[in-house]
Amino acid sequence: MSYDTETLIALDREYVWHPFTPMKAWVEKADPLVIARGEGIYLYDTTGRRYIDGSASIWCNVHGHAVPVIDAAITAQLQQVAHTSLLGLANIPSTLLAKRLIDLAPAGLRKVFYSDNGSTAVEVACKMAYQFWQNQGQRQRTRFLAFDWAYHGDTLGAVSLGGIPLFHQAFKNLCFPVDLVAPPICWSCRDHQPGAACCGRTLTQLEALLQKSPDAYAALIVEPLVQGAGGMLMAPPGFLRAVRDVCRRYDVLLIADEVMTGFGRTGTMFACEQEDVCPDFMCLSKGLTAGYMPLGATLTTQRVYDAFYADPKELKTFFHGHTFTGHPLACAAALASLDLFEQNQLLSHVQAMAPIMAEELAQARGMPHVADVRTCGLIGAIELMADPAEKQPFPYHWRIGGELCTALRSKGVLLRPLADVVVIMPPLAINENDLRYLCRVAVESIVQIPHLIERKMQES
Ligand SMILES: *Cc1c(COP(=O)(O)O)cnc(C)c1O
Repeated sequence: MSYDTETLIALDREYVWHPFTPMKAWVEKADPLVIARGEGIYLYDTTGRRYIDGSASIWCNVHGHAVPVIDAAITAQLQQVAHTSLLGLANIPSTLLAKRLIDLAPAGLRKVFYSDNGSTAVEVACKMAYQFWQNQGQRQRTRFLAFDWAYHGDTLGAVSLGGIPLFHQAFKNLCFPVDLVAPPICWSCRDHQPGAACCGRTLTQLEALLQKSPDAYAALIVEPLVQGAGGMLMAPPGFLRAVRDVCRRYDVLLIADEVMTGFGRTGTMFACEQEDVCPDFMCLSKGLTAGYMPLGATLTTQRVYDAFYADPKELKTFFHGHTFTGHPLACAAALASLDLFEQNQLLSHVQAMAPIMAEELAQARGMPHVADVRTCGLIGAIELMADPAEKQPFPYHWRIGGELCTALRSKGVLLRPLADVVVIMPPLAINENDLRYLCRVAVESIVQIPHLIERKMQES
Protein backbone atom coordinates (compact mmCIF):
# COMPACT_ATOMS: atom_id res chain seq x y z
CA MET A 1 0.00 0.00 0.00
CA SER A 2 1.95 3.00 -1.19
CA TYR A 3 -0.08 6.15 -1.32
CA ASP A 4 1.18 9.61 -0.60
CA THR A 5 -0.41 11.57 2.19
CA GLU A 6 -1.95 14.18 -0.11
CA THR A 7 -3.79 11.51 -2.08
CA LEU A 8 -5.02 9.78 1.07
CA ILE A 9 -6.36 13.03 2.48
CA ALA A 10 -8.13 13.80 -0.78
CA LEU A 11 -9.67 10.32 -0.86
CA ASP A 12 -10.74 10.58 2.77
CA ARG A 13 -12.43 13.92 2.14
CA GLU A 14 -14.14 12.58 -0.96
CA TYR A 15 -15.39 9.24 0.34
CA VAL A 16 -15.27 8.77 4.12
CA TRP A 17 -18.02 9.94 6.44
CA HIS A 18 -16.48 10.06 9.94
CA PRO A 19 -18.31 9.12 13.15
CA PHE A 20 -19.55 11.86 15.52
CA THR A 21 -18.04 14.39 13.12
CA PRO A 22 -19.48 17.60 11.68
CA MET A 23 -18.29 16.80 8.15
CA LYS A 24 -18.38 20.39 6.87
CA ALA A 25 -15.73 21.37 9.37
CA TRP A 26 -13.77 18.16 8.68
CA VAL A 27 -13.68 18.74 4.93
CA GLU A 28 -13.12 22.50 4.99
CA LYS A 29 -10.72 22.95 7.91
CA ALA A 30 -7.17 21.70 8.57
CA ASP A 31 -5.92 18.50 6.96
CA PRO A 32 -6.71 15.33 8.89
CA LEU A 33 -3.92 13.27 10.40
CA VAL A 34 -3.51 9.92 8.67
CA ILE A 35 -2.19 7.21 10.97
CA ALA A 36 0.13 4.73 9.36
CA ARG A 37 1.32 2.54 12.22
CA GLY A 38 1.60 2.11 15.97
CA GLU A 39 4.16 0.84 18.42
CA GLY A 40 3.67 0.70 22.18
CA ILE A 41 1.89 3.83 23.35
CA TYR A 42 2.82 5.67 20.15
CA LEU A 43 1.03 6.22 16.86
CA TYR A 44 2.90 7.39 13.75
CA ASP A 45 1.34 9.39 10.94
CA THR A 46 2.11 8.94 7.25
CA THR A 47 4.83 11.60 7.43
CA GLY A 48 6.58 9.66 10.22
CA ARG A 49 5.64 12.01 13.07
CA ARG A 50 5.13 10.29 16.42
CA TYR A 51 2.34 10.88 18.93
CA ILE A 52 1.41 9.46 22.34
CA ASP A 53 -1.98 7.76 21.92
CA GLY A 54 -3.43 9.75 24.81
CA SER A 55 -6.99 8.50 24.31
CA ALA A 56 -5.95 4.84 23.91
CA SER A 57 -7.57 4.87 20.46
CA ILE A 58 -10.91 5.86 21.98
CA TRP A 59 -10.51 4.22 25.39
CA CYS A 60 -9.77 0.68 24.37
CA ASN A 61 -6.03 0.13 23.98
CA VAL A 62 -4.53 -1.65 26.98
CA HIS A 63 -0.96 -2.92 26.43
CA GLY A 64 0.03 -0.55 23.62
CA HIS A 65 0.09 -1.07 19.86
CA ALA A 66 1.76 -3.85 17.88
CA VAL A 67 2.54 -5.86 21.01
CA PRO A 68 4.28 -8.95 19.60
CA VAL A 69 2.44 -11.47 21.83
CA ILE A 70 -1.00 -10.23 20.76
CA ASP A 71 -0.02 -9.93 17.11
CA ALA A 72 1.33 -13.49 17.25
CA ALA A 73 -1.85 -14.84 18.87
CA ILE A 74 -3.98 -13.29 16.12
CA THR A 75 -1.62 -14.57 13.42
CA ALA A 76 -1.59 -18.08 14.89
CA GLN A 77 -5.40 -18.17 14.88
CA LEU A 78 -5.42 -16.76 11.35
CA GLN A 79 -3.29 -19.66 10.22
CA GLN A 80 -5.97 -22.04 11.56
CA VAL A 81 -9.13 -20.25 10.46
CA ALA A 82 -10.18 -16.58 10.43
CA HIS A 83 -13.88 -16.91 11.07
CA THR A 84 -16.42 -19.62 11.76
CA SER A 85 -19.91 -19.09 13.14
CA LEU A 86 -21.19 -19.63 16.68
CA LEU A 87 -24.61 -20.33 15.17
CA GLY A 88 -24.68 -24.09 15.38
CA LEU A 89 -20.93 -24.54 15.99
CA ALA A 90 -18.38 -23.90 18.72
CA ASN A 91 -14.83 -22.69 18.14
CA ILE A 92 -11.64 -23.00 20.15
CA PRO A 93 -10.78 -19.44 21.25
CA SER A 94 -14.37 -18.39 22.10
CA THR A 95 -14.77 -21.47 24.28
CA LEU A 96 -11.51 -20.89 26.15
CA LEU A 97 -12.20 -17.18 26.52
CA ALA A 98 -15.67 -17.74 28.01
CA LYS A 99 -14.14 -19.78 30.82
CA ARG A 100 -11.42 -17.14 31.41
CA LEU A 101 -13.99 -14.35 31.59
CA ILE A 102 -16.19 -16.20 34.06
CA ASP A 103 -13.16 -16.94 36.25
CA LEU A 104 -12.30 -13.23 36.29
CA ALA A 105 -15.79 -11.77 36.64
CA PRO A 106 -17.62 -11.18 39.93
CA ALA A 107 -18.79 -14.51 41.38
CA GLY A 108 -22.38 -15.06 40.30
CA LEU A 109 -21.81 -14.37 36.61
CA ARG A 110 -21.83 -17.76 34.92
CA LYS A 111 -22.59 -17.42 31.19
CA VAL A 112 -21.08 -15.50 28.27
CA PHE A 113 -23.07 -14.30 25.26
CA TYR A 114 -20.79 -12.92 22.55
CA SER A 115 -21.41 -10.13 20.10
CA ASP A 116 -19.36 -7.60 18.13
CA ASN A 117 -19.01 -4.35 20.05
CA GLY A 118 -20.10 -2.36 23.06
CA SER A 119 -23.46 -1.32 21.66
CA THR A 120 -24.40 -4.90 20.82
CA ALA A 121 -23.24 -6.09 24.26
CA VAL A 122 -25.75 -3.59 25.68
CA GLU A 123 -28.50 -4.58 23.22
CA VAL A 124 -28.07 -8.20 24.28
CA ALA A 125 -28.34 -7.35 28.00
CA CYS A 126 -31.37 -5.21 27.34
CA LYS A 127 -33.24 -7.79 25.26
CA MET A 128 -32.28 -10.62 27.63
CA ALA A 129 -33.53 -8.64 30.64
CA TYR A 130 -36.80 -7.94 28.86
CA GLN A 131 -37.33 -11.50 27.69
CA PHE A 132 -36.31 -12.86 31.09
CA TRP A 133 -39.49 -11.38 32.56
CA GLN A 134 -41.60 -12.38 29.56
CA ASN A 135 -40.37 -15.97 29.92
CA GLN A 136 -41.22 -15.89 33.64
CA GLY A 137 -44.78 -14.72 32.96
CA GLN A 138 -44.17 -11.26 34.46
CA ARG A 139 -45.15 -9.56 31.26
CA GLN A 140 -45.76 -6.18 32.89
CA ARG A 141 -42.04 -5.74 33.62
CA THR A 142 -41.20 -3.84 30.46
CA ARG A 143 -39.63 -0.55 31.55
CA PHE A 144 -36.00 0.41 31.96
CA LEU A 145 -34.18 2.78 34.30
CA ALA A 146 -31.05 4.67 33.29
CA PHE A 147 -29.22 7.90 34.13
CA ASP A 148 -29.11 11.33 32.57
CA TRP A 149 -25.79 11.74 30.74
CA ALA A 150 -25.53 7.99 30.32
CA TYR A 151 -23.95 6.59 27.18
CA HIS A 152 -24.44 2.96 26.21
CA GLY A 153 -23.76 2.97 22.47
CA ASP A 154 -25.34 4.09 19.23
CA THR A 155 -27.74 1.34 18.16
CA LEU A 156 -31.36 2.22 18.89
CA GLY A 157 -31.75 0.15 22.05
CA ALA A 158 -28.57 1.66 23.42
CA VAL A 159 -29.74 5.12 22.33
CA SER A 160 -33.02 4.54 24.18
CA LEU A 161 -30.98 3.99 27.34
CA GLY A 162 -28.80 7.05 26.66
CA GLY A 163 -29.13 10.43 28.30
CA ILE A 164 -26.87 12.81 26.35
CA PRO A 165 -29.16 15.34 24.65
CA LEU A 166 -26.66 16.30 21.93
CA PHE A 167 -26.26 12.68 20.81
CA HIS A 168 -29.64 11.19 21.59
CA GLN A 169 -32.36 13.82 21.35
CA ALA A 170 -32.84 13.56 17.58
CA PHE A 171 -33.73 9.86 17.87
CA LYS A 172 -35.91 9.81 20.99
CA ASN A 173 -39.16 9.35 19.05
CA LEU A 174 -37.75 6.14 17.61
CA CYS A 175 -36.88 4.78 21.03
CA PHE A 176 -38.60 2.71 23.72
CA PRO A 177 -39.49 4.62 26.89
CA VAL A 178 -36.84 4.77 29.61
CA ASP A 179 -37.05 6.56 32.95
CA LEU A 180 -33.93 8.68 33.32
CA VAL A 181 -32.74 9.56 36.80
CA ALA A 182 -30.32 12.42 37.59
CA PRO A 183 -26.83 10.99 38.08
CA PRO A 184 -24.84 11.71 41.23
CA ILE A 185 -22.63 14.35 39.63
CA CYS A 186 -20.49 15.26 42.53
CA TRP A 187 -18.21 17.99 41.45
CA SER A 188 -20.76 20.65 42.16
CA CYS A 189 -20.92 19.73 45.85
CA ARG A 190 -17.39 18.29 46.05
CA ASP A 191 -18.50 16.17 48.96
CA HIS A 192 -17.14 12.84 47.80
CA GLN A 193 -18.37 10.92 50.80
CA PRO A 194 -20.80 8.04 50.90
CA GLY A 195 -24.20 9.59 51.32
CA ALA A 196 -23.13 12.83 49.66
CA ALA A 197 -26.08 15.06 48.82
CA CYS A 198 -26.10 14.31 45.09
CA CYS A 199 -25.86 10.58 45.74
CA GLY A 200 -28.79 10.75 48.15
CA ARG A 201 -30.85 12.79 45.69
CA THR A 202 -30.36 10.22 42.95
CA LEU A 203 -31.22 7.31 45.20
CA THR A 204 -34.35 9.07 46.50
CA GLN A 205 -35.49 9.65 42.93
CA LEU A 206 -34.88 6.00 42.04
CA GLU A 207 -36.67 4.74 45.09
CA ALA A 208 -39.67 7.01 44.36
CA LEU A 209 -40.05 5.63 40.83
CA LEU A 210 -39.77 2.06 42.06
CA GLN A 211 -42.22 2.60 44.89
CA LYS A 212 -44.75 4.07 42.49
CA SER A 213 -44.56 1.12 40.08
CA PRO A 214 -42.75 -1.67 41.90
CA ASP A 215 -43.30 -4.34 39.26
CA ALA A 216 -43.09 -2.27 36.07
CA TYR A 217 -39.33 -2.36 35.59
CA ALA A 218 -37.29 -5.01 33.84
CA ALA A 219 -33.83 -3.58 34.51
CA LEU A 220 -31.65 -0.63 35.43
CA ILE A 221 -28.48 0.12 33.48
CA VAL A 222 -25.49 1.90 34.97
CA GLU A 223 -21.93 2.72 33.95
CA PRO A 224 -20.15 1.62 37.14
CA LEU A 225 -18.03 4.32 38.89
CA VAL A 226 -17.62 6.53 35.80
CA GLN A 227 -20.14 7.75 33.22
CA GLY A 228 -17.80 7.96 30.25
CA ALA A 229 -19.08 9.78 27.19
CA GLY A 230 -21.25 12.01 29.37
CA GLY A 231 -18.01 13.72 30.43
CA MET A 232 -16.15 11.26 32.67
CA LEU A 233 -18.62 11.89 35.50
CA MET A 234 -17.47 10.05 38.58
CA ALA A 235 -19.90 8.70 41.15
CA PRO A 236 -19.18 9.05 44.85
CA PRO A 237 -18.00 5.96 46.74
CA GLY A 238 -20.88 3.76 47.80
CA PHE A 239 -23.19 4.84 45.01
CA LEU A 240 -22.89 1.70 42.90
CA ARG A 241 -23.38 -0.49 45.97
CA ALA A 242 -26.48 1.52 46.88
CA VAL A 243 -27.89 1.11 43.37
CA ARG A 244 -27.27 -2.64 43.59
CA ASP A 245 -29.19 -2.76 46.87
CA VAL A 246 -32.17 -0.76 45.56
CA CYS A 247 -32.41 -2.99 42.49
CA ARG A 248 -32.30 -6.10 44.63
CA ARG A 249 -35.07 -4.84 46.90
CA TYR A 250 -37.41 -4.35 43.94
CA ASP A 251 -36.11 -7.36 42.02
CA VAL A 252 -35.04 -5.14 39.12
CA LEU A 253 -32.20 -6.64 37.10
CA LEU A 254 -28.95 -4.65 37.20
CA ILE A 255 -27.03 -4.18 33.97
CA ALA A 256 -23.45 -2.99 34.53
CA ASP A 257 -22.15 -1.41 31.34
CA GLU A 258 -18.41 -2.02 31.84
CA VAL A 259 -17.63 -1.40 28.18
CA MET A 260 -15.32 1.48 29.14
CA THR A 261 -14.46 0.61 32.74
CA GLY A 262 -13.75 -3.09 32.19
CA PHE A 263 -10.26 -4.57 31.90
CA GLY A 264 -8.30 -2.55 34.38
CA ARG A 265 -9.20 1.00 33.44
CA THR A 266 -10.32 1.96 36.97
CA GLY A 267 -7.53 0.01 38.72
CA THR A 268 -9.37 -3.27 39.21
CA MET A 269 -10.21 -5.75 36.47
CA PHE A 270 -13.84 -4.60 36.62
CA ALA A 271 -15.19 -1.46 38.27
CA CYS A 272 -17.95 -3.48 40.00
CA GLU A 273 -15.32 -5.19 42.15
CA GLN A 274 -14.54 -1.93 43.94
CA GLU A 275 -17.96 -1.95 45.57
CA ASP A 276 -18.29 -5.68 45.80
CA VAL A 277 -21.15 -5.68 43.31
CA CYS A 278 -22.24 -8.60 41.18
CA PRO A 279 -24.62 -7.31 38.52
CA ASP A 280 -27.16 -9.48 36.69
CA PHE A 281 -25.52 -8.51 33.40
CA MET A 282 -22.05 -7.22 32.67
CA CYS A 283 -21.42 -5.69 29.23
CA LEU A 284 -17.84 -5.83 27.94
CA SER A 285 -16.07 -4.65 24.83
CA LYS A 286 -13.38 -1.94 24.29
CA GLY A 287 -10.51 -3.33 26.44
CA LEU A 288 -11.69 -6.92 26.04
CA THR A 289 -9.36 -7.55 23.09
CA ALA A 290 -6.82 -4.99 24.38
CA GLY A 291 -8.25 -2.73 21.69
CA TYR A 292 -7.04 -4.93 18.81
CA MET A 293 -10.26 -6.40 17.39
CA PRO A 294 -14.00 -5.70 17.66
CA LEU A 295 -15.67 -8.03 20.16
CA GLY A 296 -18.49 -7.74 22.66
CA ALA A 297 -19.53 -9.99 25.51
CA THR A 298 -22.54 -9.94 27.81
CA LEU A 299 -22.05 -11.94 30.98
CA THR A 300 -25.04 -13.06 33.01
CA THR A 301 -26.17 -15.25 35.89
CA GLN A 302 -27.43 -18.79 36.16
CA ARG A 303 -30.83 -17.38 37.15
CA VAL A 304 -31.17 -15.45 33.89
CA TYR A 305 -29.86 -18.36 31.84
CA ASP A 306 -32.28 -20.78 33.49
CA ALA A 307 -35.28 -18.64 32.48
CA PHE A 308 -34.40 -19.39 28.84
CA TYR A 309 -33.47 -23.04 29.44
CA ALA A 310 -36.57 -24.83 28.26
CA ASP A 311 -37.91 -27.26 25.74
CA PRO A 312 -37.69 -25.63 22.26
CA LYS A 313 -41.47 -25.82 21.88
CA GLU A 314 -41.88 -23.41 24.81
CA LEU A 315 -40.27 -20.72 22.64
CA LYS A 316 -38.16 -19.33 25.46
CA THR A 317 -35.04 -19.26 23.27
CA PHE A 318 -33.03 -16.06 22.99
CA PHE A 319 -33.41 -15.36 19.28
CA HIS A 320 -30.49 -12.99 18.83
CA GLY A 321 -27.07 -13.27 17.22
CA HIS A 322 -24.71 -11.54 14.86
CA THR A 323 -22.81 -12.99 11.95
CA PHE A 324 -19.45 -12.41 13.60
CA THR A 325 -20.55 -13.36 17.15
CA GLY A 326 -17.55 -14.69 19.09
CA HIS A 327 -15.09 -14.04 16.28
CA PRO A 328 -12.11 -16.40 16.63
CA LEU A 329 -9.45 -13.78 15.79
CA ALA A 330 -10.90 -11.38 18.34
CA CYS A 331 -11.18 -14.09 21.00
CA ALA A 332 -7.56 -15.09 20.36
CA ALA A 333 -6.50 -11.47 20.89
CA ALA A 334 -8.52 -11.35 24.13
CA LEU A 335 -6.89 -14.52 25.47
CA ALA A 336 -3.41 -13.15 24.72
CA SER A 337 -4.33 -9.88 26.41
CA LEU A 338 -5.46 -11.66 29.58
CA ASP A 339 -2.13 -13.55 29.64
CA LEU A 340 -0.33 -10.20 29.46
CA PHE A 341 -2.39 -8.80 32.34
CA GLU A 342 -0.91 -11.57 34.49
CA GLN A 343 2.62 -11.59 33.10
CA ASN A 344 3.02 -7.83 33.35
CA GLN A 345 1.05 -7.48 36.61
CA LEU A 346 -0.83 -4.78 34.80
CA LEU A 347 -3.42 -4.13 37.50
CA SER A 348 -0.68 -3.31 40.02
CA HIS A 349 0.89 -1.08 37.41
CA VAL A 350 -2.37 0.82 36.93
CA GLN A 351 -2.72 1.17 40.71
CA ALA A 352 0.80 2.63 40.83
CA MET A 353 0.22 5.01 37.90
CA ALA A 354 -3.22 6.27 39.01
CA PRO A 355 -1.95 8.50 41.85
CA ILE A 356 0.71 9.91 39.50
CA MET A 357 -1.96 10.93 37.03
CA ALA A 358 -4.03 12.41 39.86
CA GLU A 359 -1.02 14.36 41.17
CA GLU A 360 -0.06 15.73 37.74
CA LEU A 361 -3.58 16.74 36.73
CA ALA A 362 -4.18 18.36 40.13
CA GLN A 363 -1.80 21.10 38.89
CA ALA A 364 -4.67 22.31 36.72
CA ARG A 365 -6.89 23.04 39.73
CA GLY A 366 -7.41 26.75 40.18
CA MET A 367 -6.13 27.65 36.70
CA PRO A 368 -8.42 30.07 34.86
CA HIS A 369 -11.38 28.30 33.20
CA VAL A 370 -10.78 25.00 34.99
CA ALA A 371 -14.10 23.98 36.54
CA ASP A 372 -13.05 20.56 37.78
CA VAL A 373 -10.26 18.00 37.68
CA ARG A 374 -11.17 14.39 38.35
CA THR A 375 -9.53 11.01 37.97
CA CYS A 376 -10.37 7.37 38.52
CA GLY A 377 -7.71 4.77 37.78
CA LEU A 378 -6.18 5.82 34.46
CA ILE A 379 -9.12 8.01 33.47
CA GLY A 380 -8.33 11.70 33.79
CA ALA A 381 -10.63 14.62 33.03
CA ILE A 382 -10.15 18.38 33.09
CA GLU A 383 -13.45 20.19 32.73
CA LEU A 384 -13.24 23.66 31.20
CA MET A 385 -15.82 26.44 31.38
CA ALA A 386 -16.12 30.06 30.36
CA ASP A 387 -16.93 30.91 33.97
CA PRO A 388 -16.52 28.04 36.43
CA ALA A 389 -17.88 30.01 39.39
CA GLU A 390 -21.14 30.64 37.53
CA LYS A 391 -21.06 27.17 35.89
CA GLN A 392 -21.22 28.89 32.55
CA PRO A 393 -19.96 26.72 29.66
CA PHE A 394 -18.19 27.98 26.56
CA PRO A 395 -20.37 28.30 23.45
CA TYR A 396 -20.48 24.75 22.02
CA HIS A 397 -19.35 25.82 18.54
CA TRP A 398 -16.18 27.41 19.91
CA ARG A 399 -14.85 23.88 20.43
CA ILE A 400 -12.41 25.04 23.12
CA GLY A 401 -11.67 21.46 24.20
CA GLY A 402 -11.20 20.42 20.59
CA GLU A 403 -8.90 23.35 19.80
CA LEU A 404 -6.70 22.61 22.81
CA CYS A 405 -6.40 18.95 21.88
CA THR A 406 -5.60 19.73 18.24
CA ALA A 407 -2.87 22.15 19.36
CA LEU A 408 -1.31 19.38 21.46
CA ARG A 409 -0.39 17.50 18.28
CA SER A 410 2.59 19.83 17.94
CA LYS A 411 3.78 18.41 21.30
CA GLY A 412 3.49 14.85 20.04
CA VAL A 413 0.25 14.09 21.87
CA LEU A 414 -3.14 12.91 20.59
CA LEU A 415 -6.11 13.58 22.84
CA ARG A 416 -9.82 13.64 22.10
CA PRO A 417 -12.07 15.76 24.32
CA LEU A 418 -15.71 15.29 25.26
CA ALA A 419 -16.96 18.79 24.42
CA ASP A 420 -14.96 20.96 26.86
CA VAL A 421 -13.80 18.10 29.04
CA VAL A 422 -10.20 17.25 28.16
CA VAL A 423 -9.89 13.48 28.60
CA ILE A 424 -6.54 11.84 29.38
CA MET A 425 -6.87 8.11 28.91
CA PRO A 426 -3.62 6.46 27.72
CA PRO A 427 -2.97 2.76 27.18
CA LEU A 428 -2.76 1.17 30.64
CA ALA A 429 0.82 0.03 30.03
CA ILE A 430 2.11 3.64 29.82
CA ASN A 431 5.22 4.21 31.96
CA GLU A 432 5.68 6.91 34.56
CA ASN A 433 7.77 9.29 32.42
CA ASP A 434 5.40 9.19 29.48
CA LEU A 435 2.38 9.57 31.76
CA ARG A 436 3.90 12.63 33.44
CA TYR A 437 4.75 14.16 30.07
CA LEU A 438 1.25 13.52 28.73
CA CYS A 439 -0.42 15.06 31.78
CA ARG A 440 1.97 18.04 31.89
CA VAL A 441 1.46 19.10 28.29
CA ALA A 442 -2.30 18.76 28.78
CA VAL A 443 -2.22 20.97 31.87
CA GLU A 444 0.18 23.49 30.29
CA SER A 445 -2.07 23.86 27.26
CA ILE A 446 -4.75 25.44 29.46
CA VAL A 447 -2.85 28.75 29.52
CA GLN A 448 -3.71 29.04 25.81
CA ILE A 449 -7.42 29.44 26.55
CA PRO A 450 -7.47 33.28 26.84
CA HIS A 451 -5.82 33.50 23.37
CA LEU A 452 -8.36 31.06 21.98
CA ILE A 453 -11.22 33.10 23.44
CA GLU A 454 -9.82 36.28 21.90
CA ARG A 455 -9.63 34.57 18.51
CA LYS A 456 -13.17 33.20 18.79
CA MET A 457 -14.49 36.67 19.71
CA GLN A 458 -12.80 38.18 16.68
CA GLU A 459 -14.17 35.46 14.41
CA SER A 460 -17.76 35.95 15.58
C1 LIG B 1 -17.97 2.93 23.99
C2 LIG B 1 -19.09 2.56 24.89
C3 LIG B 1 -20.18 1.83 24.42
C4 LIG B 1 -20.37 1.49 22.96
O1 LIG B 1 -19.39 0.66 22.48
P1 LIG B 1 -19.18 0.55 20.88
O2 LIG B 1 -18.19 -0.53 20.73
O3 LIG B 1 -18.67 1.90 20.46
O4 LIG B 1 -20.50 0.24 20.28
C5 LIG B 1 -21.14 1.44 25.33
N1 LIG B 1 -21.04 1.76 26.63
C6 LIG B 1 -20.01 2.47 27.12
C7 LIG B 1 -19.95 2.76 28.57
C8 LIG B 1 -19.01 2.91 26.26
O5 LIG B 1 -18.00 3.66 26.74
